[in-house]
Amino acid sequence: MTDTPRLIDPFARAITYLRVSVTDRCDFRCVYCMAEDMTFLPKRDLLSLEELDRMCSTFIGLGVEKLRITGGEPLVRRGIMTFFNGMSRHLDSGALKELTVTTNGSQLARFATDLYAAGVRRINVSLDTLDPDKFARVTRWGRLEQVLKGIEAARNAGLRVKINAVALKGFNEDELFTLTDWCAREDMDLTFIEVMPMGDLGDDADRVGQFWSLEDLRGDLATRFTLTDLTENSGGPARYVRLEETGQKIGFITPLSHNFCESCNRVRMTCTGELFMCLGQEDNASLRDIMRASPEDNAPLIAAIRTAISNKPKGHDFDYSRQQEDGKMTRHMSHTGG
Ligand code: SAM
Ligand code: SF4
Repeated sequence: MTDTPRLIDPFARAITYLRVSVTDRCDFRCVYCMAEDMTFLPKRDLLSLEELDRMCSTFIGLGVEKLRITGGEPLVRRGIMTFFNGMSRHLDSGALKELTVTTNGSQLARFATDLYAAGVRRINVSLDTLDPDKFARVTRWGRLEQVLKGIEAARNAGLRVKINAVALKGFNEDELFTLTDWCAREDMDLTFIEVMPMGDLGDDADRVGQFWSLEDLRGDLATRFTLTDLTENSGGPARYVRLEETGQKIGFITPLSHNFCESCNRVRMTCTGELFMCLGQEDNASLRDIMRASPEDNAPLIAAIRTAISNKPKGHDFDYSRQQEDGKMTRHMSHTGG
């Protein structure tokens, strides 16, 4: 519990979930996420590990109960375990209910045990295909085998793994059942993500990565399985169904087909300390310099966070319905964190 009033936005939504990008760097170059020749931020612009701790601890003091660490690839940030180990004090105190990670899985073999020891219990691993050649193509720099070993290490360490797959027309359409069966066999939840118009991706971006509506994907799934809608709501863009034949839970993240904003409970922070109140809007509040300007006193930071939350917009404006990328964001997903 907190002594100070919690963060409530103008639409009466309590903000209890913070997603934090701890780096814009990555050891992959997924075609829908980054250009191959990405320019990364100078290191001095990034929040230090101590600053990340202070920032997250401040949000937790204001009622944030769930923290998801993302990037870029969070596990390539040097010294990142120091940060995770620091956050475990908030799990111990009960202020933080859940500490999670979204990762491409490449470094999990190294970090799985340490993550579990820090109090992480569930992780999301992004994996779009089980075909090694296609995996190399879509990630440009990744190796499927390394990720599969990472997933195995995570499960052996006791972490519950959810697979996130971006639905890409003409790329992994033919793997819908392969991915579903694999997750059923391995007892992993599976969520499909609609590709979103984020950032400039370079010339080869269109060859892999056409928009595959999850409405269509759901229809394909229904040709083999009986789908039951689940009412649970994480406050985010995911909707869930259960496949009656396997008991599996399948998620759909459909920011383009459906509007999920009315129950939004989250904000996102970039690795430079910009707070984005909405994934689909450019409005943001730069918290880093405010925090740096008062090393001993958190009051200015807290005031800036409250002002930012009081400006959280009602929703995003993504729209493909006019056959063009309306509402497109100029920043990359790796900047805001997925
Ligand atoms: N590197 C980590 C990973 O891949 O899981 C964390 C960061 S990544 C930006 C987070 C998620 O965003 C991944 O599941 C990725 O597939 C997804 N993503 C990246 N670009 C996307 C886009 N343009 N549309 C939809 N999802 C995207
Ligand atoms: Fe890296 Fe994740 Fe983006 Fe792929 S989706 S390039 S793994 S940040």
